[in-house]
Amino acid sequence: MDKPVACLECLQCRRLSLPPAAFCRNCGSEDLRQLTVDQGILYSYTRIHVPPEGWPTTGPYIVGVVQIRQGTLMSALYEGVPWDRPVMGSDVRLKYKDDILYFSI
Ligand SMILES: [Zn+2]
Repeated sequence: MDKPVACLECLQCRRLSLPPAAFCRNCGSEDLRQLTVDQGILYSYTRIHVPPEGWPTTGPYIVGVVQIRQGTLMSALYEGVPWDRPVMGSDVRLKYKDDILYFSI
């Protein structure tokens, strides 16, 4: 089942925390509000041919680093065929599916 990506925004410095934390990792403030994000920009990616033991994907698969606003980076699995060549800098969508973070183009 698809779920939105929940994170916390610091009301002092506006940085986002993912996963959510009790305080801002940037400035230490506890003045936070919850919000969801569903898009970002593909910052980088790599194609992995040998999955770790117990990983639900049989490989090869793509792991990307997605930049959401204010410089926050998160890693996510690519929801597409592993032979795609995602373009760095392109807009991507984010979602949780079965508690795994995915990005798609
Ligand atoms: Zn902060």
